[in-house]
Amino acid sequence: MTDFDFLIIGSGIAGASAAAFLSSRARVAVIERESAHGYHTTGRSAALYSPLYGNAAFRALTVASRDFLTSPPEGFAAHPVLTPRGVLYIASQSQLASLAGVADGAEALGIRIETVSREQALTLCPALRPEHLAAAVHEPDAMDIDVEGLHQGYLRMARANGATIRLDAEAQAFERRDGVWTVRLADGGMVTTPVVIDAAGAWADVVAQRAGVEPIGLTPLRRTAFIIDPPEGSDVTRWPSVIDADEDFYFKPDAGRLLVSPADETLSEPCDAWAEDLTIAECVERMQEAVDVPVRRIIRSWAGLRTFAPDRSPVIGYEPQAEGFFWLAGQGGYGVQSSAGAGRTAAALALGEDVPADVAALGLTADQISPARFR
Ligand SMILES: Cc1cc2nc3c(=O)[nH]c(=O)nc-3n(C[C@H](O)[C@H](O)[C@H](O)COP(=O)(O)OP(=O)(O)OC[C@H]3O[C@@H](n4cnc5c(N)ncnc54)[C@H](O)[C@@H]3O)c2cc1C
Repeated sequence: MTDFDFLIIGSGIAGASAAAFLSSRARVAVIERESAHGYHTTGRSAALYSPLYGNAAFRALTVASRDFLTSPPEGFAAHPVLTPRGVLYIASQSQLASLAGVADGAEALGIRIETVSREQALTLCPALRPEHLAAAVHEPDAMDIDVEGLHQGYLRMARANGATIRLDAEAQAFERRDGVWTVRLADGGMVTTPVVIDAAGAWADVVAQRAGVEPIGLTPLRRTAFIIDPPEGSDVTRWPSVIDADEDFYFKPDAGRLLVSPADETLSEPCDAWAEDLTIAECVERMQEAVDVPVRRIIRSWAGLRTFAPDRSPVIGYEPQAEGFFWLAGQGGYGVQSSAGAGRTAAALALGEDVPADVAALGLTADQISPARFR
């Protein structure tokens, strides 16, 4: 494998989306260490599209993703990428201040928010405990994402544009000479390219260090999820996602069952993350205060690493201290829903252009996401 304009390291949703948008204009290669795409964080998400979820930078990138996700190009995916779901943010009496903050800034980005009565909230999700529920806010346009369909769609789009995509290909060592990187793979293969795009998720700082680039200080935080049966006799398929106003837990329908998360953020090394029984048990207990959903057994559980920059905004842009090194990292808990906006923005910045006009119109600047903010 030699001579590409851009070498993207990591084929998660970040690397795949950047490859999809960059490959129509440049020669792109993507290398992935694992033997399957989406083995790490991308394959472990809760599959929610909620523009309200995340800080200002992620909200802008998520809103900017909507058009692509709702109307992707012909042949992109066999099924709709987004399907209606809605999110209900719920609060007890002591959480009213947190609930009031949930909708801050939503109007400016055109995110539709409805304050619903307790009765309306109980109709949307009949399992909520009326004695716990003080108030609720509804985000009706939040959606479920077909993550697998979206991820494969980006990879297919990149391949159709001529990109080379390789599995079982770990970038192990980097050398820069005369404006060109030579990247040695674990199997002994070599790739040459003037620009490396670091989309290695929880390992993005590790990849940078291998290239002799100062790390950003990215923090992988473990998040757990598990599947339970719905309450007996309940059809949960039309329930909204329900998020506690302090994000102490959330749950959402998943193929007729419920996906529950403690919304944990446990510091971790980059690794193949796993769920801990205690985290699940504590979540079940916490959730019972707000919801009447008996938990008889945990059908399946998993965990993944949500990786954050120190200010919790994404890191997209050229490293000021190392020629030809481009960061596409720190997607946190929002990397799937923001992927189309982030992929387009990464492609534009990598090509030396400005942030796309529609993304800039949502208030996102190159400085806000540049690695230079940490230097
Ligand atoms: C429980 C949970 C729920 C979530 N829910 C949502 C949600 O509802 N909505 C949402 O938008 N987001 C959600 N997220 C976050 C989302 O999943 C992430 O933001 C996103 O998947 C990150 O994608 P990525 O491509 O950066 O990382 P990854 O998917 O981890 O991809 C990085 C890839 O780089 C590869 N790699 C690393 N080092 C090398 C190397 N040296 N050489 C080659 N390859 C390498 C890795 O093998 C990996 O495949 C959730 C996350 C979790 C854990």
